[in-house]
Amino acid sequence: MSTSKMHIKKGDNVMVVSGKEKGKKGKVLLISRSTSRAIVEALNMMTHHERPSRRSPQGGIVQREAPIHVSNLMPICGKCGKPTRVGRRILEDGATVRVCKRCSEIIDLG
Ligand SMILES: [Zn+2]
Repeated sequence: MSTSKMHIKKGDNVMVVSGKEKGKKGKVLLISRSTSRAIVEALNMMTHHERPSRRSPQGGIVQREAPIHVSNLMPICGKCGKPTRVGRRILEDGATVRVCKRCSEIIDLG
């Protein structure tokens, strides 16, 4: 295995476990493998000042999600509803699944 798989992926519901957004939950919209950072819906909002453009002739201030390092995020298990570490298990048919380390339930293929 050349690259280690990340413990979260796009579409996961995650909880922030450290930093200023600690304790907040959101859905992963995007992951950058190169920077190990994720965009989480409505979390870590940053203010951007937009220059006037055709779309917004006055320019303006917009709120946008800033990336959060994946080490600050923990997936929330859909079965037990708690933030958890994720393990992997290989099924009899060879498929790999992600499992919740709290309740041992299968989360999804992964
Ligand atoms: Zn669980």
